[in-house]
Amino acid sequence: SAKYNGKNQYQIFSPSMNLASDKKFMLKNDLQKAVMNDELIIHYQPRFDPITYEVTGAEALIRWNHPELGMISPLEFIPIAEETGLIIQIGEWLIREVCTKSKMWQRQLITPVKISINLSAIQLFQSNFVEKVLTMLRGTELEAKWIEFEITESVIIDKEEQVLKTLTQIKELGISIALDDFGTGYSAINYLRQIPCDIIKIDKSLVKDMQIEVTNFEIVAAIVALCHKLNKTVVAEGVETPQQLLSLQKIECDEIQGYLFSKPVEETEFVEIIKNKKWINKIVKND
Ligand code: C2E
Ligand code: MG
Ligand code: MG
Ligand code: MG
Repeated sequence: SAKYNGKNQYQIFSPSMNLASDKKFMLKNDLQKAVMNDELIIHYQPRFDPITYEVTGAEALIRWNHPELGMISPLEFIPIAEETGLIIQIGEWLIREVCTKSKMWQRQLITPVKISINLSAIQLFQSNFVEKVLTMLRGTELEAKWIEFEITESVIIDKEEQVLKTLTQIKELGISIALDDFGTGYSAINYLRQIPCDIIKIDKSLVKDMQIEVTNFEIVAAIVALCHKLNKTVVAEGVETPQQLLSLQKIECDEIQGYLFSKPVEETEFVEIIKNKKWINKIVKND
């Protein structure tokens, strides 16, 4: 927005704003080509059982390997993909790719794990989304139980009726639904009531703070207890320290995801992890 600089002039853009909008303009143009040129890649971050250290699943996280700018975070380009509508095409590519890979691992006699895929609201708003997913499952011959969709509470703000119907149909296909970034929104408890989900992913900001203040520890403990009463599985995100792991073990959190066990990794490294089935490392030895 224009700013009055006090000298009877309007300064429309500051130099830094120019840079930012130039970059965005550039990314907008390049993103179109990125899908075709194989510049988008999928990393996988495994989830683990906090007691047995067994791999319980994984999250697919998209990255853009830009030819000139290098790796670009999804935090930067997903909003652009949403603004331009390219998220539909990118999202479909990602779902198909995950299904294809999962089926390929099964054919190689590697026991696959359930892979969760982040969905944008825009994808869920498509009236034929469920049909598209079904077609992809059939095309890749993957059973629905091997994928999961992650949504945030923001999907429920618009088009509530339609989204709830779509989510119910997705569940009927046998795909599980995870509520992502739980605890960061405005009325988490209300969404817990409305959204037909199987899994709750506690946001990393809550996990981080549980070591700092007793109150936060108690909040996370209460979320876990509530979710268990509602028959939902709880995953803690952003677990970085052995102390956090201990706390989460104590309150019987079902699964953990975070740098302590594994960062999101490339496909080859991920395959090694699922072949091992278990986290074999010295991480908890140090404390
Ligand atoms: P998210 O779905 O909540 O994903 C978890 C994010 O936390 C990932 O960031 C992951 O790398 C990061 N993370 C995992 N463990 C730790 C930890 O121990 N500490 C810290 N500090 N961070 C950790 P990433 O990969 O940069 O993705 C950011 C967000 O971008 C995701 O948040 C998700 O909302 C979005 N995103 C990523 N891939 C996709 C995609 O394929 N489609 C859509 N629509 N959104 C995506
Ligand atoms: Mg997620
Ligand atoms: Mg998210
Ligand atoms: Mg999250």
